[in-house]
Amino acid sequence: MTGAHQRQRRLDNLRRRIAGPQDAYERCRMYPCTNRTTADSGSGLNRLYCRKHIEFYRRHGSYVKTSYGAGELRPYRAQALAWLDLNEREMAVQAAIDGVRRLYRTAGAAVAANRLAGRPPAERAKATWAQLRQREVDPLEVLAAWLAVDLRMRDDPQPDRHEEYRWVQVAKLIHRMAGGTHKRWETERADGRVQVTELHKHPVSRGRVLRVLGEELAATCNGLIMAS
Ligand SMILES: [Zn+2]
Repeated sequence: MTGAHQRQRRLDNLRRRIAGPQDAYERCRMYPCTNRTTADSGSGLNRLYCRKHIEFYRRHGSYVKTSYGAGELRPYRAQALAWLDLNEREMAVQAAIDGVRRLYRTAGAAVAANRLAGRPPAERAKATWAQLRQREVDPLEVLAAWLAVDLRMRDDPQPDRHEEYRWVQVAKLIHRMAGGTHKRWETERADGRVQVTELHKHPVSRGRVLRVLGEELAATCNGLIMAS
């Protein structure tokens, strides 16, 4: 076979692989999802997962497990806070409180949520800590969020044990504590009864900023362990 022939065959081969349905990563890795990967469908660079599962992962920190609901975590937060109140004088708790205060202190100026769109994740994480500082959220509440997720995971027969899932779950709580618009108004109805309307709006909770927040808190809570 001539050199020109071989070159032609290699080129053909390459063309087939680029265009090709033979590609191993053509379909999303998530069983039983049959969507095409974003790389395969030409809508992105991900060779493992489809658009739907990428978005799921950005929101939950897991490809398989949805986030714990706020109501689901509430009793664990209460349990953790009670434990922290009792053990506030312990060295590990004091160190973690100092850590949260440091995050507050080094966060810079608070920035309005609507000005954060498109900013880098590290900057948005700082804004979250600044917001908590401005709202004078007790550092113990922040630590309780960390411990609550840990307690919930211990109770979960099918937890996702990846650090990233833990980070995202904790960060979602922190995010809620920091943010949102809350309005409440009363309207008097024709029959004289008062109708109360409440509006709670939270910023969208997904993406890299959650990983940054969670990892920062993980470093702060390193050594904080609640005996079960
Ligand atoms: Zn998929």
